[in-house]
Amino acid sequence: MVDKKKTILIVDDTEINIDILLDLLGDDYDVSVALDGENALEIANEEPLDLILLDIMMPKMDGYEVCRLLKTNDNTKDIPVIFITAKTDEDSIETAYEVGGVDYVTKPFKPRELIARVKTQLNMKLLIENLEFIASHDQMTGIYNRRKFFELAEKKFLQKQDNLYVAMMDIDKFKLINDTYGHPTGDVVIKAITKTISGFIESESIFGRLGGEEFAIMCNHESLEDTLKNIERIRSMVERCEVIAENKEIIKCTISTGCTKMTKETLNLDSLVKEADLALYEAKGSGRNKSIFR
Ligand code: GH3
Ligand code: MG
Ligand code: MG
Repeated sequence: MVDKKKTILIVDDTEINIDILLDLLGDDYDVSVALDGENALEIANEEPLDLILLDIMMPKMDGYEVCRLLKTNDNTKDIPVIFITAKTDEDSIETAYEVGGVDYVTKPFKPRELIARVKTQLNMKLLIENLEFIASHDQMTGIYNRRKFFELAEKKFLQKQDNLYVAMMDIDKFKLINDTYGHPTGDVVIKAITKTISGFIESESIFGRLGGEEFAIMCNHESLEDTLKNIERIRSMVERCEVIAENKEIIKCTISTGCTKMTKETLNLDSLVKEADLALYEAKGSGRNKSIFR
């Protein structure tokens, strides 16, 4: 597979400077251009960018202000900014880093040095993205880990949207599967069940593995009926899911779910999750392979 070209935005009010940078970078990168700060912010907000080369002295909005605004917007705050400027005094350099720049190149620049700096920042961005993925996803199943689930759920909770539901799911009698078929096969079962559940998770929902054989979903649905329908679909699909053991036996298992809805009285995310947990406990206590709403 050919790697997709990285995207770079060049921001400069002088066209000749843009032409020089385009000549230098146009073949290897997907380059966009903005002649002023406002346009740069618009493009950055709309297009996925890997890097911004930003002039400082521009009419209306200077490069510092552009960078400050980029860093306050969730959509653009992680795009690395390299300042390219004729200003060589120490105050200017210091300010560039203070407003969130990652590198500073003075004009006239040495072309190969600039390319090397661009490559360095692109590599750094990739490294950070990889580390962030590892820190937020469960290695075995690839879905959100506990930390990320709670981080995203907290954000959603604080938006106080109507019709917000939390469902806690736990595989029934899973210890027995480990004891019977061994831990590695247990892992295969957890992965298969995760995949089955994932098929029913809407794109705005948050689905995470909280630990062991326990999962959580936070979702918005029009009605309680819709939510329960979806949970029931998941339950019945997991029930039908089959994993073939090494000895060719067919392994089947079930899940229990506890679900609750955020109300005006819900104090915080913890109490919402606790309520769902109590419902899960009830589902376990009353026979398993079922869903309880409370
Ligand atoms: P219940 O229906 O009450 O939930 O019973 P259970 O056996 O599923 O629950 P219990 O909490 O007693 O056992 C869960 C088991 O899950 C124990 C633990 O060893 C196993 N487990 C936790 N994480 C993993 C994992 O990543 N892989 C495997 N194979 N097993 C795991
Ligand atoms: Mg269990
Ligand atoms: Mg458990």
